[in-house]
Amino acid sequence: MKYSKTFIPTVKEVPADAECLSHRLMIRAGLIRKVASGTYCYLPLGWRSLLKIIAIVREEMNRAGAQEIIVPSIQPKELWDRTGRSADYGPTMFSLEDRHGRMNVLGPTAEEVFTNLAAGEIKSYKQLPMNLYQITAKYRDEFRPRFGPIRSREFIMKDAYSFDDTPDSLHESYMAMYDAYCRIFTRCGVEYVIVEAESGEMGGSGSHQFTIPCESGEDTIVYTEDGSYAANLEKAAIDPVAPSVITSEPGESRNLPAPQEVHTPNVGTIEAVCDFLKTKPQDMIKTLIYAAGDDTVAALVRGDHDLNPEKLTQTLGGAHTDLADEQTIEKVTGAKVGFAGPIGIAEKVSKLIIDHAVAAMPVGVTGANKTDYHIKNVVPGRDFPLEGDNLTVADLRYAGQGDTRDGKKLLFKKGIEVGQVFKLGTKYSTKLGARFLDEQGVEKPCLMGCYGIGVNRIFASAIELGNDENGIVWPIAIAPFEVIITCVNQDDEEVAKVADSLYKQLLDAGIDVLYDDRILRGGVKFKDADLIGIPVRLTVGKRGIAEGQVELKLRRDAESRKLPIDKAADETIEVVASLKKEISA
Ligand code: ATP
Ligand code: MG
Repeated sequence: MKYSKTFIPTVKEVPADAECLSHRLMIRAGLIRKVASGTYCYLPLGWRSLLKIIAIVREEMNRAGAQEIIVPSIQPKELWDRTGRSADYGPTMFSLEDRHGRMNVLGPTAEEVFTNLAAGEIKSYKQLPMNLYQITAKYRDEFRPRFGPIRSREFIMKDAYSFDDTPDSLHESYMAMYDAYCRIFTRCGVEYVIVEAESGEMGGSGSHQFTIPCESGEDTIVYTEDGSYAANLEKAAIDPVAPSVITSEPGESRNLPAPQEVHTPNVGTIEAVCDFLKTKPQDMIKTLIYAAGDDTVAALVRGDHDLNPEKLTQTLGGAHTDLADEQTIEKVTGAKVGFAGPIGIAEKVSKLIIDHAVAAMPVGVTGANKTDYHIKNVVPGRDFPLEGDNLTVADLRYAGQGDTRDGKKLLFKKGIEVGQVFKLGTKYSTKLGARFLDEQGVEKPCLMGCYGIGVNRIFASAIELGNDENGIVWPIAIAPFEVIITCVNQDDEEVAKVADSLYKQLLDAGIDVLYDDRILRGGVKFKDADLIGIPVRLTVGKRGIAEGQVELKLRRDAESRKLPIDKAADETIEVVASLKKEISA
């Protein structure tokens, strides 16, 4: 492609709402333009890069035995009601009423449609295993779209769905996708880590997340230094009581006086209580009331800890929970919000879950279940039970600094989730009737898995990882072009002739080449070449030609080298091949 004829609107200034580096570089390098909050146009360079990612994803899915199809983005809401996911997705799902008054959604993903398709077509175990996928736009009305394509409202996702007859077969399908994902990220040239993940809204029995470590990521990876454990923050399990979690010496509480009620008028938050009573958050016990269907659940965590809703759900055997509304809290505790406490609460709820760190506290300050009152000197195990029928001590909070796993210190780093694989089990197949007859003629629900990759997030993450003060540094596999010919004296006939000839030779060899044929100063062209980040640059100029040479420079290196004109094309082809080899799976 010739630069003079390509739409590459590079700019110096970026809008203030471009929050992260990759987003700013995409705008500066003319890869994308914003239309509205969370929606973007992908311009020629951006789209070329996305197409290369899509091609890699498609090749690896096909190689793993998955079959590509395409299903509609406009999906009947009724299907989502049948699995209960209309409620789970809530306002994140775009919905639209058609002219006949039927309700539809714009697919944020497609488990329902694929399972419904399978329900109509799969009859026998002989048709299994089957894995179907699509690469299409997905729609999510994100509460806060941000970081450009990383959290957008319309994005391209590859989503695959597997159907199996036995757990072993499901495991095989799952591992085939897991391996395909490793190959995809390796081939795209991005560094990634795999972490254990919670299956969350998908409602399955096992999951891994593929995450690209970088500072602007919204996810947190929790890991041990020796690499024996890695999980995302939602999943990360912690040892019951790491030394740092205990705030007082054992036995210190034995001689404590009885609980003492204190008047704390209008003091309902942890910070306010701490100020008022001159205590610290780690010496307080938070009592949170949740609704799980018709049941109410009380959960206790230390004042300085945050309850992890995923862990609460797991402890409750997968039940969906929401923080209870004001009315329910008042009914359960007999007090206004902000004054719930553990004493006597077990009798008022269906279940009480106590975090390990609370059980290990020698003493704490709690709400009094009485408006405007708190209680001091509350001793877990003495003033409220740690054992009982409707009571569990469990891992309930997010991992934090100082926590351990199997005795090893946990470390934290930020990352961008680019893909996730799930074992779904029979959640969808049962609800939507995707069943098969096994060898004995017994009807069973299919065992399912689902597998998603965010194409736009790979694109953005590659830029987050590959950049310097001058612009983007693309991995060659997903760069918009592999080579840029920068002709610095385009108006000189002889120079232009050499550049034209190199361009033709590279095109003939199947190299993706951008020829900067603009009549502009060399400095401007070099700046643009660096900004758009093409991995290999060939510079053709008057001075070099006089010596019979052109210059080859890799975007990632500071040095360049000279090539004789007649060998330049062949050498460049070799360099491209070796760069590609560096990142082959
Ligand atoms: P997140 O937790 O970041 O909201 P998710 O876990 O809800 O993502 P999935 O439902 O697992 O996402 O979707 C599969 C993949 O689609 C994700 O791994 C991610 O790469 C991509 N993805 C999800 N939401 C967005 C979005 N708003 N913009 C761009 N890509 C997205
Ligand atoms: Mg996910």
